Amino acid sequence: MHTADTIFVKGVLWTGLNERAGHTALAVKGDRIAAVGSDHDVLNLRGPGTRVVDLAGRTLLPGFVDAHAHIWKIGHLLTTLLDVRGSDSLADLGERVAALATRLAPGAWLYGRGYNEARFPEGRGPTRADLDAIATDRPVVLMRTCAHIVVCNSRALERGGVTRDTPAPSGGEIDHDASGEPTGVLRETAMGLVLRQMPPPTQDDYRAMITAALAHQLSHGITSTNDAGVAPELLDTYRALDAEGRLPSRVNVMALGMVDGVGPVPLPVGHHRSDHLRIDTVKFFADGGLSGATAALSVPYRHADTRGVLRLDEDEFLALAREAHADGWRIATHAIGDVAIDQVLRVYEALGPGPMRHRIEHFGLPGADHLARAARLGVIAVPQTIFVLTLGRNFRQYLPDALLRRAYPVRAMIDAGVTVALSSDAPVVENDSPLAGIQAAMLRRDADGQPVAPDEAITLDEALDAYTRGGAVASGDDADRGLLREGMLADLAVLSGDLWEAPPEELTSLRVTQTWVGGRQQFAA
Ligand SMILES: [Zn+2]
Repeated sequence: MHTADTIFVKGVLWTGLNERAGHTALAVKGDRIAAVGSDHDVLNLRGPGTRVVDLAGRTLLPGFVDAHAHIWKIGHLLTTLLDVRGSDSLADLGERVAALATRLAPGAWLYGRGYNEARFPEGRGPTRADLDAIATDRPVVLMRTCAHIVVCNSRALERGGVTRDTPAPSGGEIDHDASGEPTGVLRETAMGLVLRQMPPPTQDDYRAMITAALAHQLSHGITSTNDAGVAPELLDTYRALDAEGRLPSRVNVMALGMVDGVGPVPLPVGHHRSDHLRIDTVKFFADGGLSGATAALSVPYRHADTRGVLRLDEDEFLALAREAHADGWRIATHAIGDVAIDQVLRVYEALGPGPMRHRIEHFGLPGADHLARAARLGVIAVPQTIFVLTLGRNFRQYLPDALLRRAYPVRAMIDAGVTVALSSDAPVVENDSPLAGIQAAMLRRDADGQPVAPDEAITLDEALDAYTRGGAVASGDDADRGLLREGMLADLAVLSGDLWEAPPEELTSLRVTQTWVGGRQQFAA
């Protein structure tokens, strides 16, 4: 009769914050959780066709939710875009470029990102001659880690119309050698001469990127994810993949509400809500980032004579937000600095009640007043504790002490009653394992082991909650995701050991060994 399709037994189940502890077994029927309990009770649902998974003391969790990532950009690095961030010599860089050249279609552009000659024993960055030695039959362009310099091979310069006589555009530079020939190095606005010639990704390219990124996230136990700001043509790709049943996990796609240098983007026509795809959030940017000193602060940066910049005219932002709010869209706004957070809260306060709880992405430097206002409004905070590890050293260099003490203050957010959804912001951060983000939330240490706002540490249970149920709340999916509870979707992650036996320092030695979405296994280590 009511026999289960799959039963997990002999596990350590974390069913959710404040849920009952001590369960060891879970049954799945169709795409839902049919039962949670003891091995004995749950095995009563076993029938002749039931698959039984012996967890042998390993941890079973609700699938992780990455509440803020850039899916197609993760996928771009996993498919056609060459990731050379890890290159440690000019020779190694050349090998990586040559290896990709053998896999691309003949004549296709080869584009790589992230080299840094400071790491090269050769003591210099690549030039046109280095790249010509690898390929002359296709354009090759490598962008430096700073994103302000590219180096091109001869074919790429030719496509961009760059010769020894080409004048540099204003705000840019074209480097020349002693004989007056371009070295291939283009700086700032001169990069556009060549980059503008690169064809934009096709629908097939986008499909390959999304598919690769979701597979990658599934290997980290991520069963629901968010693409934090996409252009209209990519919305169509997502809709088509969903219609074809090709999304292996669940994606909340945020439509860009504004594009730099272009202006407001019209709201998409209608919301899209299925089990695998949701499009009912619109994304804005109130400020920039800390490393570029463009996050809007109330006090000057330590490393630059500026307080950053607000990117939105408040009246225009309010008008766009009103339209979205009235039409039932959730609003997610990037705000890192305290001045930007203040502006976003003012706009959200002006909107009045509505069907959707709005979000603040990053929410890096709020004060106590901001947290109280966010809690009152039901605003969801979407911070990245992994930044404490990967960018903490920069925070210490850039931020005045008063702000450093409250950088990504997750403890204060939770204590103020703000819903927190943890996330990675990958590929801004390379390490997008939720276990790494959870560890960083608990340890609050940077890559040098130095504490970063250590009073803002949270517990393992709180971090797990913020990486599961919190993310489900942030996309409006908490009615059937984020907990291991009868009737909820069977989105599950199995770890390689017992999470509660590992000290926080060793959390990341655990791996995800199985990921299930809607009762179907989508990853096995
Ligand atoms: Zn982001």
